[in-house]
Amino acid sequence: MEDCVFCKIRKGELPSTKLYEDKDFMVIKDINPQAKIHLIAIPHEHAPYIDMMTEEGVLLLGKIIHKIALNRDKLGLKNGYRLLINQGEDAGQTVGHIHIHILGGEKLKEF
Ligand code: 5GP
Ligand code: ZN
Repeated sequence: MEDCVFCKIRKGELPSTKLYEDKDFMVIKDINPQAKIHLIAIPHEHAPYIDMMTEEGVLLLGKIIHKIALNRDKLGLKNGYRLLINQGEDAGQTVGHIHIHILGGEKLKEF
């Protein structure tokens, strides 16, 4: 989408600190970290909500979760991490492009 921040980052139209990218998704540092380590995994497919994703896109979310687990040491998340997806207004979603927050690097506050 033309006015989507994450699509712009993917296309290189906005700067970011990219830690990983392949044909399906990228991992960048969040610009406003809510934990010592705060990354966001962003599928290339633009969809605001999970129910708007293609089946392939939804399956990719599982692959991303697996990849994060396999690379947790490299990402500095050896002691654990929290994954979070905000969906809609009540959850406080601010960017209308599906993304998974990855939080860690310290003892996180309990919900
Ligand atoms: P949401 O609130 O939609 O779940 O999360 C959006 C996240 O994207 C927020 O944590 C926010 O800090 C992050 N964010 C928004 N704009 C940018 C940007 O231009 N660059 C980066 N790296 N992160 C962004
Ligand atoms: Zn987008």
